[in-house]
Amino acid sequence: MSSARATIETDVCVVGAGAGGAVAAAELAEGGAKVVVLEQGPHHDADGFSARPVEMMARLYRDGGQGMTLGSPPILLPLGRGLGGTTLVNSGTCFRTPAAVLERWQREYGLRELSADVLDPCFERVEGALSVAAVTPELAGANAAVARRGAEALGWSHGYLRRNARGCVGSGVCAFGCPTSAKQHTGITYIPRAKDAGAKIITGADVRRVLVRNGRARGVEVRLQGGRHTLVNASEVIVAAGTIHTPLLLQRSGLGGDSGQLGHNLALHPATAAFARMEEVVDMARGVPQSFYVDEFADEGIMFEGVAGPPSYVAMSLPLTGARHAEAMADYRHLALFGLMVSDSSRGSVRSLAGRPLIHYDLVEADLARFRAGLARLRELFGAAGAREVHLPLPHGVVPERARARDLKLMGFHPLGTARADARATHGVVDGDLRLHGVQGVHVADGSVVPSSLGVNPQMTIMALATRLAYHLLDRPCPS
Ligand SMILES: Cc1cc2nc3c(=O)[nH]c(=O)nc-3n(C[C@H](O)[C@H](O)[C@H](O)COP(=O)(O)OP(=O)(O)OC[C@H]3O[C@@H](n4cnc5c(N)ncnc54)[C@H](O)[C@@H]3O)c2cc1C
Ligand code: SF4
Repeated sequence: MSSARATIETDVCVVGAGAGGAVAAAELAEGGAKVVVLEQGPHHDADGFSARPVEMMARLYRDGGQGMTLGSPPILLPLGRGLGGTTLVNSGTCFRTPAAVLERWQREYGLRELSADVLDPCFERVEGALSVAAVTPELAGANAAVARRGAEALGWSHGYLRRNARGCVGSGVCAFGCPTSAKQHTGITYIPRAKDAGAKIITGADVRRVLVRNGRARGVEVRLQGGRHTLVNASEVIVAAGTIHTPLLLQRSGLGGDSGQLGHNLALHPATAAFARMEEVVDMARGVPQSFYVDEFADEGIMFEGVAGPPSYVAMSLPLTGARHAEAMADYRHLALFGLMVSDSSRGSVRSLAGRPLIHYDLVEADLARFRAGLARLRELFGAAGAREVHLPLPHGVVPERARARDLKLMGFHPLGTARADARATHGVVDGDLRLHGVQGVHVADGSVVPSSLGVNPQMTIMALATRLAYHLLDRPCPS
């Protein structure tokens, strides 16, 4: 390091203040550890949240939310950046890790430390801290009522989603910064708790390398705002830079590469959405955008969840062009929207190209089949709800049954798995305690350790794992 001028001393250095990093930092600081949190992005103040999608995406998302994968099809991969990380811009849906997934982790990855018995108190603790509760039908709004009517008519399993919100007024812009701070993202919950417990929170801090000497963590090298480099000396380093950036940081630190798994096993839960024109007024922007789910086909890896947005968002997403687009937009108040997410078998990879992530991901045949079936069922759902027209996200004239991968318009909201946990050092990057194989004192606590697709939204899984890690390091059981 050429220009180091100062050194910060601490017990634990946490890299990244999103779902995993913020939770680990608060629990450790409250448990008595001296903690420093280094977050590359800024602190975002809700007073400046305008609810205008384009403006807010430029401010809250990394690269304005325009990150893409290479492959067939290319997939838009938005990430948050700042205190709260991606929880700042997420929809607030809260699912625990399904029991079948935890059993699979034991069976296939030997992760005995991450059993339901161990994680249950951690889930309870996170849910309590974030006021997790089911959305009420009133707050869910008319967009959810459309999906509910369709699911009831078809006899499909469904329900209102659980969310981390308190005092939500249903303003419909969760993905663009909650203007009322109702959404309990980690930037306004765990980060203030960490600070109150004495943690030092540094924003604009780009961690360049994790430093290890003689197989033990020594700290990190960080570039601060203005370009000054500093060392943070710490005997424990928790890397929580997220699924895309954690492997890059470990790679440039010369760590985690022994198994050949670092940067691989990338799952995305690829997703898409369909529109319908209804007889009734829907006004989809009124109410909680992601408030309702249909899980009838969850065992097949197909999950439907609500999504909605104001007119400017809908104008960008409507799969129509020219006069048909203009006509549908003129009828915005009658448009309904619902999402489809696939629990993927496809796996991609991330590596660094000139310091930036280069992400490859090709959709395999099994996932393409899930999208074909899922889109056909979305059409059926809207039909059963009485839709006048359904607009699937496919090129004009292409029916779901014959869609090719390149016909799909996909987004990935849940990148996971690029530093996966596996008890065997030959198969994973971290062990069941989320410790880097072969290195003392370096742990990972973010989506990258999640070894498989979950089939449900991942923030609770990541937060519960971070809670479990904190109590493991404090050497005491997690209180529920
Ligand atoms: C639009 C959208 C909606 C979503 N909705 C839901 C939902 O409803 N429910 C759900 O469960 N999940 C949802 N998710 C996903 C969920 O928010 C993420 O899975 C979760 O936040 C990931 O947590 P993480 O700790 O891995 O990373 P993040 O939360 O992304 O945090 C990583 C942090 O590390 C920082 N960082 C990166 N590199 C460095 C570095 N070198 N130095 C310092 N800091 C660094 C980043 O700036 C970032 O703040 C959604 C995601 C999106 C994009
Ligand atoms: S719907 Fe609720 S949680 Fe979402 S932005 Fe509006 S007030 Fe915040």
